[in-house]
Amino acid sequence: MKPVVGLTGGIACGKSTVARLLAAKGVAVVDADALSREVVEPGTDGLAAVVDAFGREVLDASGHLDRAKLGAMVFAEPSRRATLEAILHPRIGALGLQKFAALADSPTPYVVYEAALLVETGRATTFPVLVVVSASADVQRARVAVRDGLTPEAVEARLAAQLPLAQKEAAATFVVRNDGSEAELAREVDALHARILERLGLPPQEVA
Ligand code: ATP
Repeated sequence: MKPVVGLTGGIACGKSTVARLLAAKGVAVVDADALSREVVEPGTDGLAAVVDAFGREVLDASGHLDRAKLGAMVFAEPSRRATLEAILHPRIGALGLQKFAALADSPTPYVVYEAALLVETGRATTFPVLVVVSASADVQRARVAVRDGLTPEAVEARLAAQLPLAQKEAAATFVVRNDGSEAELAREVDALHARILERLGLPPQEVA
């Protein structure tokens, strides 16, 4: 199996952007958010388990999971949230392993696993390399406000709900600071890719 590099960071710090820049270098990316949608697609035993636990009202007219509705049902309800996590997490983990295994023969030098919660869930140490994308609180505020169209109060609530970025940075092998332009980030990611290859003992510039 290819080495798996964890990629995480704070809200709107630029994880997906870093993942996209690495993908453009030929690095395979497995996105935890995509896995979490795949395990509850129509016809999956994951969706059946969610419906068993929460009722058919979590389905939309086309039989797909209404994630916003389910989110509202478990929000601020720790026991319901735990029920949902007990359904999703093992399935996401198993599907992730399948995806990693399927990439064993691909030309990618390593696989990036992009997930918002790696440090919080105690998985930071399970990766040979952990990349944390970080930005100043003001930059985060501005990006969340623009991207999600939130009020200043809602932005603050989102930021306050997060593990302090310093704790994520402390768990990182490499921190990517993303306070500047996208062009600057692209240069940072060039350097990051080289450092990851070196850290993993892989030859430099292996990818196209
Ligand atoms: P989340 O986990 O909150 O979904 P994320 O960490 O994956 O977010 P991105 O989606 O990559 O972050 O970036 C958040 C927003 O900020 C996006 O709209 C993205 O286009 C923008 N952005 C990221 N990096 C930069 C940059 N260096 N300059 C300008 N905009 C940026």
